[in-house]
Amino acid sequence: MIIDCHCHAGKGDRMTAPWNTDAPIEPYLRRARAAGIDKTIVFPLFHSDYSEANAQLSRLVEQYRSRLIGFAFIHATRDAGRVFSMVRRAVTCWGFRGIKVHGHEAMATREVCETARAFRLPLLYDVAGQAYVMDMLAPQFPDVNFIIPHLGSFADDWRIHQQVVDLMVRFPNVYGDTSGVRRFDYIVQAVNRAGAQKLLFGSDGPWLHPGLELHKIRLLQLPPDKEDLILGGNALRLLRPVRLGQTRTGRNYLGRSAALQTRYNAKITV
Ligand SMILES: [Zn+2]
Repeated sequence: MIIDCHCHAGKGDRMTAPWNTDAPIEPYLRRARAAGIDKTIVFPLFHSDYSEANAQLSRLVEQYRSRLIGFAFIHATRDAGRVFSMVRRAVTCWGFRGIKVHGHEAMATREVCETARAFRLPLLYDVAGQAYVMDMLAPQFPDVNFIIPHLGSFADDWRIHQQVVDLMVRFPNVYGDTSGVRRFDYIVQAVNRAGAQKLLFGSDGPWLHPGLELHKIRLLQLPPDKEDLILGGNALRLLRPVRLGQTRTGRNYLGRSAALQTRYNAKITV
């Protein structure tokens, strides 16, 4: 199964650039289908209200349930104090399976990481060139899996790519995605040094063509088992069953019984 781990969907409200204006999913889905991509992790684009943007996304995920997997976009400082409740809503009402934070807006905080930990969600964290922060986050939250998009830089900064590959080698819970990485040898280096089990195929659709981004992975000419990990195996592993277990106060995150957890997990097979 081929899973694209990085795509945007919905409409933004700022309208100063493509990435805060419109991320039309239908053209993406046509391109992805033609490229052989089975499923896609989607999250909103930049927005001034992520409660609204995540709700908007949930309608698309519902509409294309067989192909889309939702991640909740969180602004780490603007949403401070309500991260847990936003993510709980996304997980329990809409079946979302991860969190997206963009360092261009605000760097991830303890509250964000604790929420990811509580629900056992992967955190797709664009470090916006500040890869060194992972030295703090990765050891503080060894049970949270961090996926660093674009190997750390959408702007082709080779120094950041280098740092992110180093982080992927050093920390078992730090992964990288290939979306928008143009300096091909850093993808090669990520596989050779960190291993195929640490890299995830992503497209940064709908703005980048998923078929073109997928072709980069084919060009690595890896043995099929390693290529399969990058194209979907790793994503499947990180999309582990969500935990709706006990809080520190002994209450279920939903305030309901453990049976609900079992029922919920049964529903969310990818
Ligand atoms: Zn993106």
